[in-house]
Amino acid sequence: EATAGELAAVDGERGEVILAPDPATLAEYQARVARERQERERRAALRELPAVTTDGARVELFANIGAPGEVQRALANGAEGIGLFRTEFLFIERAELPGEEEQVAAYRAVAEGMSGRPVVIRTLDVGGDKPVPGIAAEPELNPFLGVRGLRLTLRHPALFRTQLRAVLRAATVGDIWLMFPMVTTVADVRAARAALDAAAAELRAERIAHRAALPLGIMIEVPAAALAAERLIREVDFFSLGTNDLVQYTLAVDRTNADLAAAYSPLDPAVLRLIELAVAAAGSAGKPVAVCGELAGDPAAIPLLIGLGLRELSMTAARIPEAKELIRGLSARDAAETARRAFTP
Ligand code: PEP
Ligand code: MG
Repeated sequence: EATAGELAAVDGERGEVILAPDPATLAEYQARVARERQERERRAALRELPAVTTDGARVELFANIGAPGEVQRALANGAEGIGLFRTEFLFIERAELPGEEEQVAAYRAVAEGMSGRPVVIRTLDVGGDKPVPGIAAEPELNPFLGVRGLRLTLRHPALFRTQLRAVLRAATVGDIWLMFPMVTTVADVRAARAALDAAAAELRAERIAHRAALPLGIMIEVPAAALAAERLIREVDFFSLGTNDLVQYTLAVDRTNADLAAAYSPLDPAVLRLIELAVAAAGSAGKPVAVCGELAGDPAAIPLLIGLGLRELSMTAARIPEAKELIRGLSARDAAETARRAFTP
């Protein structure tokens, strides 16, 4: 048991606390602190430099954020844009749904904070496991396979309409892109686009300033969407691979089940195959494809992702400096060879 004033060594990486460390342990921890400070300083020096491989492949590094207050950290870490703005914060843990003005202000704040760099806003992505005020969620046996993401917003047209109007209005400043989560079929995309067109038509009729021609994309995070990528890419302007969910659905492993953590393998060949399909479909259509799941910031995965042809990675801001340093030491040609080998049985 810890007593006040007692010395403790905290390892945030492993989630360990060592009370009253012996001199050897203490020295080891102090050396690590010094090493990590050096790494941080070395990487900070790369902030203004591009993420480009040794053979000239340019990779764009974006940040994932969950609230406007995270923009500064994204910029401080060298983010070239926001590849995923999760809008759930506006809807959960409160008594009432957010109004249109509040949403316009939040989206605009991010776009303005990023000073013209791209900002990908994702529409509300909640489901049976996360309650939203004013939306009666029936208890579901399998919430991850239930009414979540785009399925939920399509079933609540008033909520969806308010968010779409707010995004279209905010898009008059900065470079806002719009993205739908949990898309499974072409019909999903068409229904979402119809809602967007209706929102734009309303704003036009009401003579409210907005930008209707913003890039429209979808998350690829359901295996069906990856398998249908060639058809889906014709409907949209870009893809973003949500590997957190793609892994869980492909391997049938609940991403939140600690008991199954060992079976949750983002680099499983089945997952890589789906990523490859989506990248190929976007590539032949000449449209951008990014990764915005945790995998994008994982140093163990980045060479493989570059090797699979990805040139846009969006991650937690704090991971950007390390990702950049890694990419600047990487050959895209070697990475492609590594990726090819990953598929050889
Ligand atoms: C994903 O599924 O990979 C993703 C980025 O979305 P979220 O983690 O918000 O489900
Ligand atoms: Mg997801």
